[in-house]
Amino acid sequence: MTTSTTPPPSPVKRCPICHKPRVEAHAPFCSNRCRDRDLMRWLDDGYALPGRAVDAEDEAPD
Ligand SMILES: [Zn+2]
Repeated sequence: MTTSTTPPPSPVKRCPICHKPRVEAHAPFCSNRCRDRDLMRWLDDGYALPGRAVDAEDEAPD
């Protein structure tokens, strides 16, 4: 007797920044841009750092 296990359909996670469907590579965001924006929001909330961190793995065009 064969039993096939089918995983339950997972709800679509959305980017907390722009609410587009998120991309696994940038989870929980949809892109490096939104991830960066979230980071900036945190920094802007409590810290004021000069300059801007350049993400070397920013490979997503737009
Ligand atoms: Zn987004």
